[in-house]
Amino acid sequence: MSKLEYKSGSLIMMRVSHNADLIQQITDFAASRNIETATFTAIGALKRATLGYYDQNGHQYNEIDIGSACEIASCIGNISIKDGAPFAHAHVVLSDDEANTKAGHLLRATVFAAEVHITVLNGPKLERKYDDVTGLSLWQTKD
Ligand code: ZN
Repeated sequence: MSKLEYKSGSLIMMRVSHNADLIQQITDFAASRNIETATFTAIGALKRATLGYYDQNGHQYNEIDIGSACEIASCIGNISIKDGAPFAHAHVVLSDDEANTKAGHLLRATVFAAEVHITVLNGPKLERKYDDVTGLSLWQTKD
């Protein structure tokens, strides 16, 4: 286990634009405000989405296309620095017109309407670096 500690700063309530990509809009907003570390949640509805399931042996994401409208039943994520710029990492639970759910790592999402709640964190720089063991870009924290 390793960790860093932060103090909560501003809480930003953001409405995402119709047809925008959820992850891209959060990333662009963070870059425009120089937000390097944050947590976020989101609720709303999507026109379509692509989830990722990480193949732990193959070290790559298998993409799962959700090609129809769905609700964001839950979305939780964080912002940290990757390759010198803000990077948003999010996982979602999406529900269809019969309340069946699909869930996973969120790669892409076309927004119908969405509300995002961003908590800016103040503290040490939180940066992702490539990790040979997992094949993922993981946080560099103290042991
Ligand atoms: Zn993930």
